Amino acid sequence: MISSQDAITWIAVISAIILSIYFMMESMRKPKEPEYETMEILECPKCGYTVTKEFEPGDFIGMIKGKCPKCGTPLIIKAIYEVEKKNEKNLKTPNNL
Ligand SMILES: [Zn+2]
Repeated sequence: MISSQDAITWIAVISAIILSIYFMMESMRKPKEPEYETMEILECPKCGYTVTKEFEPGDFIGMIKGKCPKCGTPLIIKAIYEVEKKNEKNLKTPNNL
């Protein structure tokens, strides 16, 4: 005989187990996939001013985007690249491998 209170307790226990398994799997999955951030370099063809910005969908190399804060000339996207999301400095340490 199972009372309604026992049933509620069981549901709570089962959902707690399911949740903990879910969070365990989530935390295990994250370190395997390093997050990448796409950046782009904008350059002023007139004075050589360059600025690094976050890539926006639809941007491509050679596209005119924004204006140079120094001389007002339209900036051109010179390069698009990906960087690993890290708060550490970009210095490569030999002990990393
Ligand atoms: Zn300029």
